[in-house]
Amino acid sequence: MLRRSHDCDRCGAPIAPGDEYAAVDGIAPDGELRVLLCARCAAALSRFLDGA
Ligand SMILES: [Zn+2]
Repeated sequence: MLRRSHDCDRCGAPIAPGDEYAAVDGIAPDGELRVLLCARCAAALSRFLDGA
């Protein structure tokens, strides 16, 4: 649960506390990567990871 509102790291849509969102942790060449995605971008990411 988010404690404060945050913008989606992909499309910039505001994510309010209580909204559905996805937190994605990863490793990037320059260090760790953590992004928050709105529900719509999370669905798009799922399709991308599925190879669709
Ligand atoms: Zn988004």
